[in-house]
Amino acid sequence: MLRYFIWTIGCQMNKAESQQIAGYLDSVGHQSATSFSNADLVILNTCVVRQSAENKVLGTLGLLKGLKNKHPNLQILVTGCLVDSDTQELKRRFPHVDLLFKPGDYHELIARSKRRGVFIEQEASLSTTPSPCAFIPIIQGCDNFCSYCIVPYRRGREVSHPLGEIVCEVEELIRRGIKEVTLLGQNVDSYGHDLPEHPDLADLLNELSSIDDLARIRFLTNHPKDVSLKLIDTLASLNKVCEHLELPVQAGDDDILRDMRRGYTLEQYRELVHTIRRQIPQISLSTDIIVGFPGETEEQFEHSLSLVKEMRFDVIHVAAYSPRPGTIAWREYQDNIPSEVKKERLHKIEELQAAIASEINSQLHGKDVEVLVEGRKKEKWFGRTRSNKLVFFEDDDDWLGQLAKIQIEKTSPWSLGGKVKK
Ligand code: SF4
Repeated sequence: MLRYFIWTIGCQMNKAESQQIAGYLDSVGHQSATSFSNADLVILNTCVVRQSAENKVLGTLGLLKGLKNKHPNLQILVTGCLVDSDTQELKRRFPHVDLLFKPGDYHELIARSKRRGVFIEQEASLSTTPSPCAFIPIIQGCDNFCSYCIVPYRRGREVSHPLGEIVCEVEELIRRGIKEVTLLGQNVDSYGHDLPEHPDLADLLNELSSIDDLARIRFLTNHPKDVSLKLIDTLASLNKVCEHLELPVQAGDDDILRDMRRGYTLEQYRELVHTIRRQIPQISLSTDIIVGFPGETEEQFEHSLSLVKEMRFDVIHVAAYSPRPGTIAWREYQDNIPSEVKKERLHKIEELQAAIASEINSQLHGKDVEVLVEGRKKEKWFGRTRSNKLVFFEDDDDWLGQLAKIQIEKTSPWSLGGKVKK
């Protein structure tokens, strides 16, 4: 038996993959450790989508080098977006790492680990989890090549998981007590185009909806240029599919969108949001915005602010542009917006969004919402509404994994608080 510690940074895809790796290691008899220092095996699940994430990964690798000097038997495995197809350079830079494997490439993990006799003793399922919510990757990679993004270079081209396998995986999770699944992909709208019968995301949602005891289904991330009317109809008609969409706009200016190679105009994005809101009035929308893209003028940034005011998103993930070596933007544009300006723009979006989210959430005051309880933090239960709002409440009963009806008594831009209605 080994004690393992998995360090994860980055998107939900990474978190899902770490969850699967942990499930695998548990199922073959290993135990999770509480920190690097009491682990025999460390797995870093990395992200290099932004410079700040890459810096954290490099810092952690440096820390582990020191730890390995003290404990030479410590095994270090690295996966995630740091690992590209040419691992030679990474091996040269990080000789203290025992194994580098590409995201989702568990076969490589199992095969190489067996060869080395490292820690795998028997075959087992890669999907156990104690939480009532599970993340399930349905498509790996991305074919889009947005100019700023490193993902297609690191995660490769789109590969969909067969529909039947996903259904079986969800059925198995349900048997283990899972109530909610979130289907993951860099672009879930591309799901199935590479499979023999070309099923799409709407077909998959229909199949999953018929599974008894599955209470909720979510999916992310959508690409605004690829969301189909069929998907919107399906979202509107299936009760189990939650009313929430992650629809990254990235910028509020057509010239910047063109340079980002996003494949849609603002008008098309607006039209899509209006269509969705017309059919599903209770939908909550999250988006991503990048500020300080090369050449972004003050006026172009103002367009992003105006879009935020107009669209009234529920949540915005805002990031300052950082050039990623190897991408189109890195090759073709100069990173010419000073970092203080990027920071200032980022704060302006955050401030505006906090005010908007505060108004949106305050409308829930006094209302009843359904919450799937995911756990306990600081003596309070917490979980999410169908619209993905985080809700806290206090109660002595055991609510883990239950659907609770909560009357909202407190709201903020980031979360809600209330009491259980029994
Ligand atoms: S859609 Fe664009 S931003 Fe998203 S993963 Fe693909 S290339 Fe990156």
